[in-house]
Amino acid sequence: MTIELKKLTKRFGTLTAVDAIDLNVGDGEVLCLLGPSGCGKTTTLRMVAGLEFATEGDVLLAGKRVNDLAPRDRNVAMSFQFYALYPSLTVAENLAYPLYAEKLSAAEISKRVAQVSKTLQLDGILKRTPGQLAEGEKQRVAVGRSIIRDPKCFLFDEPLSRLDVQLREEMRGEIKEVLQDLSRPTVIVTHDQLEALTMADRIAVMRDGRIEQVDTPHNVFQRPSNLFVAGFIGTPQMNLVPATLKGSDGAGIAEFAFDGGQALKIQVDPAVSQLSPGAKVTLGIRPRNLEICQDPVEDSLSTKIDMVEPMGAETLAHMNDGYRDLRVVTDWRVPLAEGDHVHLRFPPGVTHIFTEDEQVLRSAT
Ligand code: ATP
Repeated sequence: MTIELKKLTKRFGTLTAVDAIDLNVGDGEVLCLLGPSGCGKTTTLRMVAGLEFATEGDVLLAGKRVNDLAPRDRNVAMSFQFYALYPSLTVAENLAYPLYAEKLSAAEISKRVAQVSKTLQLDGILKRTPGQLAEGEKQRVAVGRSIIRDPKCFLFDEPLSRLDVQLREEMRGEIKEVLQDLSRPTVIVTHDQLEALTMADRIAVMRDGRIEQVDTPHNVFQRPSNLFVAGFIGTPQMNLVPATLKGSDGAGIAEFAFDGGQALKIQVDPAVSQLSPGAKVTLGIRPRNLEICQDPVEDSLSTKIDMVEPMGAETLAHMNDGYRDLRVVTDWRVPLAEGDHVHLRFPPGVTHIFTEDEQVLRSAT
């Protein structure tokens, strides 16, 4: 079973909410649609579920075009959150509820409740009502309710958004395990990158109705394909620093001039040799990759500490030298004081280069 979207488009009047997206979700794969508010995630999911008609393009389930099928004939399970349990029904009744409309025999319903209960380890609480459950148990029941119809695929819209932080953390792991056991194509919509990074096999990062990158969680973080993905994924945000290329040696050592007149050599991807001296670029470096030196060293950027935010084991320092803001994360033991002048080194191989068209410049691997 697979989900395929081909040039899928949705327009609301003059607004293009989803703009010709192509996407495949493999059998058993968990794909997260991740992006800022209003980028078209929910609309995409609703078109897969059949709750919204596509303006153009196709939705294929198991290779079959389903654009004209009503939601219930598509046999997909869409759940808006894992939380809406009926308070007066027992866990077993809550689980069975979606099956009543299917006109199944009592024996079949009992069998399915038993199966789901076993998968989600609910056997000990089947007779309780939601009020008698711990939060995590409620969530497991709600997951059970959305999978009991044994649909061909699962669609979840911000499933954890109503939960407090601690429970979210627990549920992320739990849901991931359940989805792996179920082995159905699954699409999860979220604007929470941590949720996507932890639960997904692949992430599709969306912006303005388009998909900017589809890749593994590791790659969207380590190998962003453009400036938007680089800035969107990762907390604190990647530093994105405008610079001008002065020259490079062919092996990836390039000299860059920064606004304000400083220039330094940085080891970057050898593909930098494709650019001519004078090219405008944006250098991307994660706050944990910049190195703070108290004393001036060759090829470092002088700056001033603006604000220091202790974060427990680490410290987040905000730097500003009048030309740019930079964020640096260091071990908490590194002494940092607001107003101090420091020097930032760009260690070899961790700086991404984005060209003027906002695409990453990288050698083919
Ligand atoms: P959020 O995380 O805020 O839900 P989203 O990425 O899921 O955002 P969508 O809900 O898919 O985004 O909305 C995409 C765009 O389409 C938005 O600009 C939204 O205002 C618009 N939109 C969604 N549904 C409708 C509708 N029924 N009529 C008109 N415009 C709509």
